[in-house]
Amino acid sequence: MQIYINGEYFDKEDAKISVFDHGLLYGDGVFEGIRVYNRKVFKCREHLERLYESAKSIDLKIPLGIEELEADMLETVRRSELDEAYIRLVVTRGEGCLGINPYTCGIPQIIIIVDKIALYHPDFYKKGLSLITVATQRNLPEAVNPRIKSLNYLNNILAKIEAVNAGVEEAIMLNSFGLVSECAGDNIFAIRKGLLMTPSISMGVLEGITRNEVIRLARAKGIEVRQLVMTRHDLFIADECFLTGTGAEIVPVIKIDGRTIGDGKPGPVTRGLMEDYHRLTREEGTPVPRD
Ligand code: PMP
Repeated sequence: MQIYINGEYFDKEDAKISVFDHGLLYGDGVFEGIRVYNRKVFKCREHLERLYESAKSIDLKIPLGIEELEADMLETVRRSELDEAYIRLVVTRGEGCLGINPYTCGIPQIIIIVDKIALYHPDFYKKGLSLITVATQRNLPEAVNPRIKSLNYLNNILAKIEAVNAGVEEAIMLNSFGLVSECAGDNIFAIRKGLLMTPSISMGVLEGITRNEVIRLARAKGIEVRQLVMTRHDLFIADECFLTGTGAEIVPVIKIDGRTIGDGKPGPVTRGLMEDYHRLTREEGTPVPRD
């Protein structure tokens, strides 16, 4: 495995950054998780654009232009020799002093790791996940906007701790109004009477790239989609429910807080979208250069 740090490639054991990096000291930085399918980078531009938007929002100047960064990312994938992979693209604030002022930091560190990923066990895609709602609320958009994909994931980690300790894989997080926002690492959708629903961005969610693609795919097959205010009640009475994310792709949900969703099996709309999404991942993407 060859890891990219600011234009240089290192073996895993030698890929190191400073302990004074504010990415480590304060979680000050941004990142993306991106998939490679069939030797093509899926939704490459969308991920890069979100990275630059997250960086802009926290006044972090990425020292490369989007085209250069894309080229370096593709080269890192090429070196990995993996046709199916997960890319972790990280930009930290860089090395600074012991104080939070980001303007004391030097050059931001760009790190690219290309590895394999299996987020959920394959059984969950056939049988569905059980979820619980957790007490940890999603970050207030007015405090730390969930649209910023920052290195500070403690809010999500606290939710994940609750889920794992309750024996489930994922946590449903509510916002400060008690409305459904998203899961610790995935967006959430519900289907009722043919209508596909997901919490609107204003509920305090990351604008997931998979979420956007699923909305597009559903509309393309004539399914009505609404981004709206959702309560736990809307989830409990749903016919189907599923989660979306780059790592998760589309994973069905069959139980929430002890309530069985629909008939307790992944439903037809979910299965149809899973098939469409899978097909798209094989077809689309930015090709990784050949040697
Ligand atoms: N919400 C959160 C909190 C996430 O961390 C992620 C990414 N893992 C998602 C939603 C899904 O976003 P995407 O589809 O862009 O991967």
